[in-house]
Amino acid sequence: MPVGTQGAVKAVPHEMLEALDAEIILGNTYHLYLRPGHEAIRSMGGLHRFMSWPRALLTDSGGFQVYSLSQLRKVSDDGVQFRSHLDGSSHFFTPEHSIDVQIALGADVIMAFDECTEYPASRGRAEESLRLTMAWAERSLAHFRAHRDEVPWRRQGGSQVPISEPGTARISPDNPSDDHRTQSLFAIVQGGMYRDLRRQCTERLVEMAFDGYAIGGLSVGEPRELTLEVISEVLPLLPRDKPRYVMGVGYPDEIEQYARMGVDMMDCVLPTRAARHALLFTSEGRVNIKNKQYAEDQNPPDPACSCPVCRRYSRAYLRHLMQAGEPLAATLNSIHNLAFYLGIMQRVRNSLEADSQQLTADR
Ligand SMILES: [Zn+2]
Repeated sequence: MPVGTQGAVKAVPHEMLEALDAEIILGNTYHLYLRPGHEAIRSMGGLHRFMSWPRALLTDSGGFQVYSLSQLRKVSDDGVQFRSHLDGSSHFFTPEHSIDVQIALGADVIMAFDECTEYPASRGRAEESLRLTMAWAERSLAHFRAHRDEVPWRRQGGSQVPISEPGTARISPDNPSDDHRTQSLFAIVQGGMYRDLRRQCTERLVEMAFDGYAIGGLSVGEPRELTLEVISEVLPLLPRDKPRYVMGVGYPDEIEQYARMGVDMMDCVLPTRAARHALLFTSEGRVNIKNKQYAEDQNPPDPACSCPVCRRYSRAYLRHLMQAGEPLAATLNSIHNLAFYLGIMQRVRNSLEADSQQLTADR
């Protein structure tokens, strides 16, 4: 999932995301709540209609941004008090409030409010954080079940508001008729880097029967072997018939590895963030397009890539745009990197399909 933090995948127009076959993008609840505000978005029919994105959307719970961006964070059993990174104003997020905000935004997939455990964390600290995450998951679920009909794209009484077409995510859990379509709520497994805590959290969340499950608290500075260890521990415990999502990963080889292990969804700012800093992911490895060696290189950024950027532009031109500070540099670099990432996932899907056809043929 390309990340559209503030209702936009940075520097990339929606038409291009559609052309690249991005089926779902992610928006950040924390950012959209602070600006332009969830009530403003609700009054305009929800995030799909506001940003004119008819395909699937996922919003996170705000927990991770509160953890990573806000100042003066104060956590209690009830929720988190924090100050906005924009203007220092004071806010209080509870699981119920996070769900209310996410219902107002109206994404297809929303996330339970969690507390992201930092790395490294002592066992005591990880246990305490886990206790909060599990209690908050239960409260998120109860509140969601009581208010799931209040999404902005449903009229009271159950009929659909036309124009946008949210709720069309292929990952909808049971795909009921239009009149009864609601959002899907995913839980987030925490537990730091402690395998038994991860296991305990997973088992408890699976009992609560969410629509899907995410593994959170990764990519917070831990070594890659630990990330892999946690995913390997949790993944087999999650129901196979529900989406399994690893949050905030990763490099191209990582996402391929995790997808082959059975992870269905991932999100990462890396392809777009790296692009804005001149780093291209290619079939020949990483290319820092600002390097002098590309000054007169007439080859496409990635000779094996058929994205609109590689079909049209040279390395020399992309380097020049970076050097000249042209905003087009960020756009073109981002389009290529997103195409590269989405291409990896497409290849994995194709090979899984071929494998399962082979299995059927062998039977
Ligand atoms: Zn390309």
